[in-house]
Amino acid sequence: MSFADTGYLEEEEYLYLNPYTNPEGSGASSSTFSSCSQGHRSSLSLETSEGGIICLVCFCNLISNPTSPSVHVIYALSQLSQAISQPAFLRNLRTFHAHLLISPLVQALSSFDDEAIAQHTIDLVSDLCDSDDPSVCCDFVVRIADRLSSAALVWSRRQVYPLHCLGVLLNRQVDNPTSQIKNRRAFIANLVTGLQLPR
Ligand SMILES: [Zn+2]
Repeated sequence: MSFADTGYLEEEEYLYLNPYTNPEGSGASSSTFSSCSQGHRSSLSLETSEGGIICLVCFCNLISNPTSPSVHVIYALSQLSQAISQPAFLRNLRTFHAHLLISPLVQALSSFDDEAIAQHTIDLVSDLCDSDDPSVCCDFVVRIADRLSSAALVWSRRQVYPLHCLGVLLNRQVDNPTSQIKNRRAFIANLVTGLQLPR
């Protein structure tokens, strides 16, 4: 599946620059407001305290697509960061949708050589890992370690961002923090190779 066509990105831009307003009080049916322009499931569109709507499917598609313009990705990440500053939104996101975001956030970490995207992403990962469900943090560790072990990033400076995020996550875990790293031999070998990158 490709999301690289121009039309898709234009739709994404529209979505984030023109969030739907809450029609409550405007006479619109409550069953219509939560569908996004791409027709994704309304249960995956979350209402923000400002009355906007963030479709998590569109969000995930945008941030995990390496061809998405950085400015769009940063805007989407900052919109979600702003939304989770509201406890009710964050609670809903953590409880029902945290696992949906794991793969796209890990993909975003290693797709863009962009400090701002990386920092926003790591902050979001940390917020999601504050969940009562420890499997969220474990899944992030597994996914990032797998990505680093795969050698896909070994000669790329983009390896720095998932590695930093992994360090943040491992610092949070009290018991045997590296137990989720499956292929430690490949993991360490690729990290050592990565050290040969020029500064
Ligand atoms: Zn959508």
